[in-house]
Amino acid sequence: AAKMEERNTFRFYSPLMQADSRRRLRLATELRRALGADEFFMAYQPSVELKTGRIVAVEALLRWRHPERGCVMPGEFIEAAEQMGLIRRIDEWVLQAACAQIERWDRAGVPPIRVAVNLSAHGFSQEGFVDSLQRLIQRHGFDPSRLMIEITERVMLRLGEDTERAMRALHHLGVGVAIDDFGTGYSSMAYLKLPAIEYLKLDRSFVSGLPGNPDDVAIIEALLGIARALGLHTIAEGVEVEAQHQFMLRAGCEEGQGYYYAYPLDAAEIERLLCRDPGHQPMPLRLVGSGG
Ligand code: C2E
Ligand code: MG
Ligand code: MG
Ligand code: MG
Repeated sequence: AAKMEERNTFRFYSPLMQADSRRRLRLATELRRALGADEFFMAYQPSVELKTGRIVAVEALLRWRHPERGCVMPGEFIEAAEQMGLIRRIDEWVLQAACAQIERWDRAGVPPIRVAVNLSAHGFSQEGFVDSLQRLIQRHGFDPSRLMIEITERVMLRLGEDTERAMRALHHLGVGVAIDDFGTGYSSMAYLKLPAIEYLKLDRSFVSGLPGNPDDVAIIEALLGIARALGLHTIAEGVEVEAQHQFMLRAGCEEGQGYYYAYPLDAAEIERLLCRDPGHQPMPLRLVGSGG
């Protein structure tokens, strides 16, 4: 809260900062409108089991259909939303949207897969969060293990006792947690012992250097070693080319996500892909699809 106040104080500013805060204020106004006006929607990017090519999960990614600017990506507004105190409502919107989508897929007879949702820093460790998540899941009638929460390593670094409590409650509920952007947080690894944590998502910045960059090779192998030693599942982020796929497969990584397999797609396209594969046969690795 201190940080928010600091950001929203307009007592001292240079002209540059003034332009910046005006832009931020406009963005905040627009985000509030967007929440009420149904301007947000989700894209879903498949996560593929490397050995078989099967889609085993999707990651829900937020999109903003802005009336003038068109489709706005989360990199352009999530941070501002955090600073303006709007992230709680966005997190709630995202969870609600993802859970409603799981129910729609289930009712349509789509083979069940895991759905991962990105949450921002503080929402999930707040009092009552896990209880309301449990009610939401119950309302949509699916098994809690279908849902996964992604939290970046950077966030884990800043959190204390509340996080630990929330993690235990999530574990009790049966909702797993993935550490997103793993390897970029420079943090203590003590949090990896928390019971809800099931997956490590190896950051795209290391995957992109494979297989040519020896530093990235060493880092990826070390990260996979940590995961193996702790019994955590692994997902490679940002797999874009065949050689990166082959490297991760041989190195023993379990799943991959990236443009090599599929772009973020809309819910109907995901349904088509999953229903094309009802008997869980291996599917062609290279999927078609429109961009974000
Ligand atoms: P992330 O959670 O690490 O999500 C992966 C991002 O990488 C997505 O960008 C995805 O489109 C992109 N990506 C996937 N495969 C590839 C690839 O092969 N190459 C490249 N270059 N990029 C790839 P997106 O959707 O723009 O999201 C960016 C970040 O915004 C996410 O990173 C996540 O931290 C955040 N974010 C997305 N949706 C939400 C949300 O609903 N809530 C919150 N709080 N944050 C979100
Ligand atoms: Mg993510
Ligand atoms: Mg990620
Ligand atoms: Mg990332």
